[in-house]
Amino acid sequence: MAVPKRKVSKSRRDMRRAHHALAAKNFQECSNCGELKLPHHVCEACGHYNDREVIEVGL
Ligand SMILES: [Zn+2]
Repeated sequence: MAVPKRKVSKSRRDMRRAHHALAAKNFQECSNCGELKLPHHVCEACGHYNDREVIEVGL
């Protein structure tokens, strides 16, 4: 429910924001080139996904 800004104390506001921290991304090594990549993403360094090249990189 919406509450007027001045009705929420700094303590209550900051307690709510205590959960807002960003989590570190879980990078994993590319099976082709060993570069760090995100799971379920095409490797940005070599363009491989599932052990085959799906996009060309560089050029
Ligand atoms: Zn790679």
